Amino acid sequence: MAADTTRAGICAILGLPNAGKSTLMNQLLGMRLMAVSPRPQTTRNRVLGVKNVSADGVAAQIVFLDTPGAQRGAGAMRQYMREQTLAAAGDCDVALFLLDMTDPAQRAPGSMEGVAAALEELTRTVAAPMLLALNKIDRVPKPALLPSLEAWNGTGRFEELIPISALKGDGLDRLEAAIARRLPEGPHLYPEDMVTDRAERFLAAELVREQVFRQLGDELPYAAAVVVEDFRERPERGDVVISAVVHVERESQKGIVVGKGGQRIKAIGSAGRAAISQLLGCPVHLLLHVKVSPNWSSGAGGLRAMGYE
Ligand code: GDP
Ligand code: MG
Repeated sequence: MAADTTRAGICAILGLPNAGKSTLMNQLLGMRLMAVSPRPQTTRNRVLGVKNVSADGVAAQIVFLDTPGAQRGAGAMRQYMREQTLAAAGDCDVALFLLDMTDPAQRAPGSMEGVAAALEELTRTVAAPMLLALNKIDRVPKPALLPSLEAWNGTGRFEELIPISALKGDGLDRLEAAIARRLPEGPHLYPEDMVTDRAERFLAAELVREQVFRQLGDELPYAAAVVVEDFRERPERGDVVISAVVHVERESQKGIVVGKGGQRIKAIGSAGRAAISQLLGCPVHLLLHVKVSPNWSSGAGGLRAMGYE
């Protein structure tokens, strides 16, 4: 009987920037596909990750959304991120709030002044059961944790409070089980072997990069980076359209990658396209551009800020 029952649903991971949302996703999925940064606001998109777990003897599939964090402020990017976050919060079957226990302002609800409004707004949007994960406990002594647990529990908003370390992996089994048992009964939404929709994008970029180095390794003294900017499946045609940028540091390197009359970039593109097509098992259209991005590799303001890591 139990074998026929499955659960599946969406868990949105919510929290302030830097709480450890991306770290948690990566740890749960066992991969490092998303940007994790000591600087806040690196994650700009909703990211889907899929984890198959067994809870109470029932096979459950958790579909995770990693969100950019509760934002307040004027700029267009912030507005976009805020909307994405609220959309994720509204849609989910389970909402997981993540707190950074190394931040004194998040250790107790009463002390959250500047961020209280953002959290309030999220809480109002969520209709699903809410769980609270108190993160980064590897950096907090136990006696300091207990009052926090009590204070947050006192809000009465959360069905369960779970201390975790996303970085070290502590508490994650309990967390997964807590999420899984709150998902609605129903068939799984994705194939068992699917981990994230980012995987294909990431691998496509890697395959193009491989071609850049195969064809130009000796001539490019510095590394080039490849970023997939658009990855569009066209179900009606059964193909995929990918737009990718090869980033180099100097104009002279751009000349090398493009080649005489564009021959080099053409060859890189056609070999890359063939490799991606083989990976995806469908026809692929690959649009390649070369861009000069001075100091792309040097961190701040570079490709890391674009979610490339
Ligand atoms: P996000 O903005 O919520 O996605 O946060 P990130 O996942 O990018 O993490 C922000 C920073 O917190 C990074 O430097 C992480 O390494 C760090 N971090 C995340 N989880 C933990 C944890 O459990 N323990 C410790 N010590 N650091 C963590
Ligand atoms: Mg993030």
